[in-house]
Amino acid sequence: MVAFARRSFPRVAWLVALAALACGGGSDSVGTAPSAPTTPTTPTTPALDTTGFLEFVAGTAPLVIVAPHGGALRPTNIPDRTCTGCEVLADANTADLARKVADAVALKLGQRPFLAINHLHRVKFDGNRDQTEATGGNAILNGVWDTWQTSLDSARVRAARIGGRSLYIELHGHAHAIARIELGYLLSGSQLRMTDSALAIGQFLRQTSIAKLATDARSGASGTALLRGAPSLGGLLVAAGYPTVPSPADVAPKDGESYFTGGYNTVRHGSLNGGVTDAIQIECYSTGIRDTDANRAAFATVLANALAEFLKKQYGWPTAAR
Ligand SMILES: [Zn+2]
Repeated sequence: MVAFARRSFPRVAWLVALAALACGGGSDSVGTAPSAPTTPTTPTTPALDTTGFLEFVAGTAPLVIVAPHGGALRPTNIPDRTCTGCEVLADANTADLARKVADAVALKLGQRPFLAINHLHRVKFDGNRDQTEATGGNAILNGVWDTWQTSLDSARVRAARIGGRSLYIELHGHAHAIARIELGYLLSGSQLRMTDSALAIGQFLRQTSIAKLATDARSGASGTALLRGAPSLGGLLVAAGYPTVPSPADVAPKDGESYFTGGYNTVRHGSLNGGVTDAIQIECYSTGIRDTDANRAAFATVLANALAEFLKKQYGWPTAAR
């Protein structure tokens, strides 16, 4: 495995070291003539060691698997996020789930997806928000945010070079009342409650994170079929025994039911604003999917099979018959 981004971040360290030099208790005394240059002053505050905060593994498939909320690290020198309305609960076991999905895809296809894991706990850093909310306003993390997001940008672009197109999958965990997978395409519950024909006639499909695929699926499937028909990711997961919305069995959350539509990353890394990468947010319930090692392994295999079929039928990858 080859890291596609460095795992230590000199720029962050440099910024923090600079801050330490500016604010730390120095030993200069007023009125003393400058002495000859000596060895550089060592900051009294150690630079933030970002090694291990973010993990990136390069892939050989046009697929990116991301876990932004599965981290457990709580470095004491990073303030907790206390911003108003900021969510700080982690998505338990999704880092391990992402790794298992990547391994299962590699086993299935003989090619690895790109993999990105944020190992910082969400109380410190949110890997699915804009910079201000992600860092909670803690400037010490600005460089980490830059590295996280630009590395995700890089991963989806590099993945697209492999297959001409790429698919960005982000794994989350929810605790909603209904135990079903929630797939986020940036359509709200009320929009999903529209009929297929209403969705197709309006501009709604162009506002999704799979807007590009909705116009050019290799199979010729319609945008609404790709959203919640048999060939959709939801259709494939339901067929494998995992309740999912949207899907043919559950086309939309009912009025009043909780549902995650997709977040910052689904917007940034999906195709609603153009580009060749489609994005799908996968919100997993706990019991039976991410609660035990065995359940994570079983679901990872099912999701890998579904993704392999989706890539083959909708993106024509790999081109050679397998
Ligand atoms: Zn999450």
